[in-house]
Amino acid sequence: MSSDLVIVYHRQPYEEVEIDGQTVLRENKSPNGIVPTLKSFFGRVDKGAWVAWKLAEDTANPGFDPVVQIDDAFGRYSVTRLPLTEHQVREFYHITSKEAFWPILHGFKDRYNYDPVDWPNFREVNWRFAEAAAAEAAPGAVVWVHDYNLWLVPGYLRQMRKDVRIAFFHHTPFPAADVFNVLPWRREIVESLLACDEVGFHIPRYAANFAAVATSLTEAQITDRQDVAPDMQAEGGALNERTVPTCLQYRGSDVALRVAPVGVDAAYIETRASRPETAAQAAEIRAGLGGDKLILSVGRTDYTKGGVDQLLSFERVLEANPDLAGTLRLMHVSVSANRNMVAYEAVQSELEQLAGRINGRFGTLEWQPIALISRAIPFDELVAYYRAADVAWITPLVDGMNLVAKEFTAARVDGDGVLVLSEFAGAAVELQEAVITNPYSHRAMDQAIMTALDMPLDERRGRMKALRAVVARNDIRAWGRAVLDASGGDDTPGDSPGTPAAHHAA
Ligand code: UDP
Repeated sequence: MSSDLVIVYHRQPYEEVEIDGQTVLRENKSPNGIVPTLKSFFGRVDKGAWVAWKLAEDTANPGFDPVVQIDDAFGRYSVTRLPLTEHQVREFYHITSKEAFWPILHGFKDRYNYDPVDWPNFREVNWRFAEAAAAEAAPGAVVWVHDYNLWLVPGYLRQMRKDVRIAFFHHTPFPAADVFNVLPWRREIVESLLACDEVGFHIPRYAANFAAVATSLTEAQITDRQDVAPDMQAEGGALNERTVPTCLQYRGSDVALRVAPVGVDAAYIETRASRPETAAQAAEIRAGLGGDKLILSVGRTDYTKGGVDQLLSFERVLEANPDLAGTLRLMHVSVSANRNMVAYEAVQSELEQLAGRINGRFGTLEWQPIALISRAIPFDELVAYYRAADVAWITPLVDGMNLVAKEFTAARVDGDGVLVLSEFAGAAVELQEAVITNPYSHRAMDQAIMTALDMPLDERRGRMKALRAVVARNDIRAWGRAVLDASGGDDTPGDSPGTPAAHHAA
C-alpha cells in the first residue's frame, strides 16, 4: 500500500517473451502508443503501480508472481498481474466488452448482443481490479482507471477507499443517452463513474453525452459549463459542440469532466520519418508504383472503421471515371485485432469479397486497383507508406479519435500529402484542414476522394502545414499536460510526469 499513482489498465505495460525457457519482460517494441506515455507518469512519483491481468489456468496457483517490481527508465513501479482464466477473459473482455459495450459506445444499437453477457463475471473481474488497486494505493494516492472494460472499478474502489482520488479516461466515444441506455446495466455503470473525481474524454461531444446520460439516469447535476476553445470547434461538423459541461455534482461530490484528445508522439514519428532508410523505403514504394497515385487506408478490421463503405466508394469512383484505370492504387490495410470474433470475421470476408470483385471488374494483368493487406505492418514500415502515399483515406463510421490520421500527418515531413477524414472520427474536431467527409453519404465520399486526388500542390501544402501544426501542438505530451494541469503539473509527461488532475470534494 505504498504507491502514489496507480494506473489500472487491462494490458500489461511490457511484452512478455520466452527466452531459453525463461519469461523475460521487455519494453514494447514500438515506443509509439499510449502505454509508454502512461508509464512516463511514474517518473514523477516516488513509487507507482500498474494493475493488469494475465492468463492463468488456475487462479489460486497461477504459476507466476502476481506482483513484480520494476525499476527502469520510467521510474520505480510495481505491476500487479491479476490471474484470470481463459473463461473469465472471454466473458469479461471478448463478450461483455466487445460484443455488448463496443457496439453501444459506437452507436451501433443493432449490433448490440446482450444475451451471452455474464454480468456477475464482469462485476467480479472489475472487483478484483479494484481490490488490487486498493491494495497498492498509498493514502490519498491517485488511481487512474482506463477504458470501458473497467467501468465498474471506480464504484468498487470508492467503497474500499474513501481517501484516494479516482480518475477515469475513456479511449472510445461516449454515446448519446438514447444509445447508451440500451445497456441494461446503465445505472450501475454511471453510478460507478460518478464515484470518480474526474472523468476524461477525447472531445467535448463525448463529455456532453456523458453529462446527459448522468443527469437523466441519476440526480447528478451540471454545475459548470465552459465555452469550447475555437481550435476544438469544427464549425458545422458532425461532432461539433460550442459549450461543454465541465463539472457535475452528485450526492455532494464534484465530478470534473475533462476533455483531452489523445495525440501521437509527433516528434518521434517525425524522427522516424526523416531517417534516410525511411526516405529510401518510401522512394522504393513510389518507384514500384510506376507513376500511379497511392491512396492509403489503414485501420483495424472492425465494422466501426467503415472499410466496406470505403471499398464501395472506390468501386463507384472507378466506374464513374474510366480514365482513372491504370493511374491509381488503393492500399487497404485492415488488421484483425480480435481474431475468432464472429463480427470481425464477417467484416474481413466482406472486405476480401469486395476487393476481389473490384480487382476482377477493373484490373488487368499489369494493374490491380486494390492491394488488400490483412497483416499488421510494423510501425517503421507504416511510416514509409505514410510518406509515400498521395492520399490517406481515413473514413470510419465512428471512431473515438483515430490516431492513424495523426500519424500520417506527423510523418509528412515533406509537407505534402492529403488527408481525407471522416467527420465522425474524434480527430476531425481538431484536424479541420483535412478534406472532411461523411462516410454515410455516397456522394460526399466519392467527391472527397476525387477532391483529394485533384488537389493542386499549393493547396496540399497549405492544408498539410496547418494539420501538422495541430498534430504537433496536440501531441501526446499535450494530452499528458491536459490531464495533469489541475494538479499543478507544469512539466511534460515525457520529461517529468505527474499525476492526473483530480480532487474529490467529499
Ligand atoms: N497500426 C500498425 N500497423 C498496422 C495498422 C495499424 O502499427 O498495420 C497501428 C497504427 O499505427 C495506430 C494504431 O495501430 O497507432 C491504430 O490506432 P487508431 O487510433 O487509428 O485506431 P484503433 O485501432 O485504436 O481504433
